[in-house]
Amino acid sequence: NRTPVTVLGLGLMGQALAGALLRAGHPTTVWNRTAAKAGPLVAQGARLAGSVRDAVTAGPLLIVCVSDYDAVHELLDPLDEVLEGRTLVNLTSGTSRSARETAEWAARRGVTYLDGSIMAVPEAIGTADSVLVHSGPRPAFDLYEPTLRSLGAAMYLDADHGLSSLHETAVVGLMYSTLNGFLQGAAMLGAAGVNAEAFAPIAKTATGMVVDWFAGYGRQIDDGTYPALDATLDTHLAAMENVIHESEFLGVSTDLPRFVKALADRSVSDGHGADSYAALIEQFRTSSS
Ligand code: NDP
Repeated sequence: NRTPVTVLGLGLMGQALAGALLRAGHPTTVWNRTAAKAGPLVAQGARLAGSVRDAVTAGPLLIVCVSDYDAVHELLDPLDEVLEGRTLVNLTSGTSRSARETAEWAARRGVTYLDGSIMAVPEAIGTADSVLVHSGPRPAFDLYEPTLRSLGAAMYLDADHGLSSLHETAVVGLMYSTLNGFLQGAAMLGAAGVNAEAFAPIAKTATGMVVDWFAGYGRQIDDGTYPALDATLDTHLAAMENVIHESEFLGVSTDLPRFVKALADRSVSDGHGADSYAALIEQFRTSSS
């Protein structure tokens, strides 16, 4: 499998993508607004195209990874029929709406479109620690899967072009909630003179325990029943109050713990005090604004 690939966008991620394709033996054409970033890739055997048009015409498969969807359209909109008949894999981050709009744009131009999301950092690209999810026409994914696998575990999600971006934003939201929990704990321990780095291994073990609850709670959420097999929401509420009081004693922010408790208070008022933590899903399902 030596499919020629074009990579448009050589930021931190684009450089990692092109590097992995080169290592897998793909003839790789690259283009970047700031051409100097192509230097190390050219040294590894990439061909630097002189223009976007030149890059696009180099082969059947185009991978674009730039800052946002506006940049994608700034790059590709000025091109005319040269895009027709090619497959575009857009690994740029955005919302499901921008992914679906770009799919419509691609259809008008006769371009086969896959929207992808990268769930990895650049240094993991090309290793087993990198997961890329794709949505759009299955036959296009199947055709190029061997090539996409050079970038990491390549997964197909759905024909709906919006679903890969939707998964990415869901995962990014999860990442921020997890990081904010770590930062709250680090601030609390820091106020007592404990290093954040020393907290890291304990935080890692605790996070691993929480991660193991996802599948069971997921089943409860899908079923719409929340039996408290582990702890009731009333028990959690008492623990949440401890986090607020401890933060107050230490003089650190109580914003996040108060927000978390407000969600649980509402859920208990709705009658879920004897249910499991998964009952809180009802607070997330509706918009409060
Ligand atoms: P960088 O900021 O390192 O690179 C941005 C790239 O976009 C550069 O190639 C830049 O060109 C290009 N660009 C921006 N605006 C334009 C424009 N108007 N016209 C042409 N090119 C443009 O970002 P990353 O490479 O880290 O990220 C790229 C995408 O990958 C983002 O959507 C990001 O969310 C996603 N991603 C990144 C991850 C990461 O860990 N880095 C993880 C998962 C997803 P120039 O070099 O000329 O400025």
